[in-house]
Amino acid sequence: MTIRLFNTMTRKTEEFKPLVPGKMGFYSCGPTVYHYAHIGNMRSMIHNDILKRMFIENGYTVHHVMNITDVGHLTGDDSDSGDDKMERGAARDHKSVWDIAQFYTDEFLRDFDDLNNIRPTDMPRATDYIAEQIDLVKKLQDLGYTYEISGDGIYYDTSKFPAYGALTGGSVAGNRAGARVEYNDAKRNPTDFALWKFSPKDKKRQMEWDSPWGIGFPGWHAECSAMSMKLLGNHFDIHTGGEDLSRIHHTNEIAQSEPITGAPWVNYWVHFSFLVNKSGDKMSKSGGEFLGLDAVRKRGYDPLVYRYLILLGHYQTQLAFSWDAMDAAANGYKNLVRRVAELLLDTEPGALDNAKFDEWHNRILSPVSDNMKTAEALVQIQELLRTNDVNASTKIALFEFVDRLLGLDFIGRAKRMNDTESETAPAEIMALADARAAAKSAKDWARADELRTQIDAAGWTVVDTRDGTKITKKA
Ligand code: AMP
Ligand code: ZN
Repeated sequence: MTIRLFNTMTRKTEEFKPLVPGKMGFYSCGPTVYHYAHIGNMRSMIHNDILKRMFIENGYTVHHVMNITDVGHLTGDDSDSGDDKMERGAARDHKSVWDIAQFYTDEFLRDFDDLNNIRPTDMPRATDYIAEQIDLVKKLQDLGYTYEISGDGIYYDTSKFPAYGALTGGSVAGNRAGARVEYNDAKRNPTDFALWKFSPKDKKRQMEWDSPWGIGFPGWHAECSAMSMKLLGNHFDIHTGGEDLSRIHHTNEIAQSEPITGAPWVNYWVHFSFLVNKSGDKMSKSGGEFLGLDAVRKRGYDPLVYRYLILLGHYQTQLAFSWDAMDAAANGYKNLVRRVAELLLDTEPGALDNAKFDEWHNRILSPVSDNMKTAEALVQIQELLRTNDVNASTKIALFEFVDRLLGLDFIGRAKRMNDTESETAPAEIMALADARAAAKSAKDWARADELRTQIDAAGWTVVDTRDGTKITKKA
C-alpha cells in the first residue's frame, strides 16, 4: 500500500520511498532524563509508535533508534547556554547525575510500556557514545566548520553551511532571541552552537570527559548526529521529534551531519504537534506544572484511554488536554472494548471470510498509511462493529490486526472485561446461573430457559461459549 507522510523539509505530504526496499530506518529524539516524562512527551512517543506499526503492517522491517539524553542538554533557550539540566536535576533530587539518569529512564520506560508502545530496536544513551561525539567534532574541525571560544567551548560556524535553516524554510533569525548569556557575544554568528563545552573552572561537573580540546562534555545536538549515523548509517529514511525540535535542534543536527555524510542525510522529517494545556501553552518539564502518566493512573484511567485520546486527533494538530476530554475518551474506548467483548462471546461466529477481511483490512490500514490518519481508522472500526455484513470470526481477526496497527489492545481488554464481569456478578445472579447449569445438565430445557429469563430480567446476560458459560452485565 502507498505510504504518505508530511515531510517538514519539503512542507509537502509525500509518497514514502524507502532507501532499501522492504526496510525502514528511523531515529526519534527521546527523553531528557532529568525529570519525569509528561504526557506531552508521551504524545510524541505514541505517534512514533503508530509510525512504526503502520510500516510493520505494510510489510516493512523497521529499525527504530531512540536516544536517551543524559548529558549536555542545557537550560538556556538556545539549549547550549545556562546549566546542564541533568546536573540541576541531580541537585534538586539530592542524588548523583548517574542515579537520576537511571531512575528517570526506568520511570520513562514504565510509562512507555504502559501505553503499549513497542520498544525501539536501539535505545542509546548519550553518555555511552562520547567517543563517537568527539569523533564527529574532530571531523567537523578537519573540514573547517569549527572555532574555539576561549574558556567556553568548540562552536559550529553556521555561516560555513549554506543550507543552514532549510528545515524551517530558512527562518532561523529568532533562534537566539532568548539567549542572554554574556559569552554569546563571542560567537561569530548568532545561530552558531556548541559542539563541545569546556567544564567550568570554578565548579566540578559530575559528568565530564577528556577530549582533544580539553575536559568537558558534548553539546546536546552532537549526540543525535553521532548516534544515528553509528546505528542507522550515513543516510537513513526518517527522523522524528516534537515540533519544538525543528527550528534549533534538528536544524543543527543537519548542519553537523551533512558536511560529513554528503547531503542528504535524512529523507523525511516528521514532527509531532504539541500537547497543550487549556490556555494553549505547551506542556513542558521546565514550565513547572506538568502532568505525568501517573496522574492519569491515579485518577483511575487505563493508560490506553490516553493513547485512544491521542489517536482521536492528528499528529499535525495541537491537542488541548483536559480531564473532560479524558472522560469522553474513556467512554468511547470502553464502549469499543465492550462491543469486542460481545463479539468474543458470540456462539455462532461463523468461518473466516477472506474477502471481507481483505476489504476491511484495507479500509482501516489506508487512512493510517495516508499520513497517519488514525481518527479515520477509528471511524472505520466503529462501522465494522456496526455492520451485519461481516461475521464475528472475521471481525475478531480484524481486531487482531487493529491491535497490531494501533496498539489499543481491544482483544486483551475485552477478554479481561469478560473475565472480570463474570467473576463480579453478584451472588444471587451466580446462584441463578449455577441452577441453570444444573438444569441444563439434567436436560431440563424449560427450567434452564426460565432461569435465563430471570438472569436477563436482572440486567445480566448469560452466554454459553466454547470456554464455558460467561455472565456479563448488559451495557
Ligand atoms: P524532552 O524530554 O523534553 O527532551 O522531550 C522528549 C520528546 O518529547 C521530544 O521529541 C520533544 O519534542 C517531545 N515533546 C516535548 N514536549 C512535548 C509536548 N508538550 N507535546 C508533544 N511532544 C513534546
Ligand atoms: Zn535529537
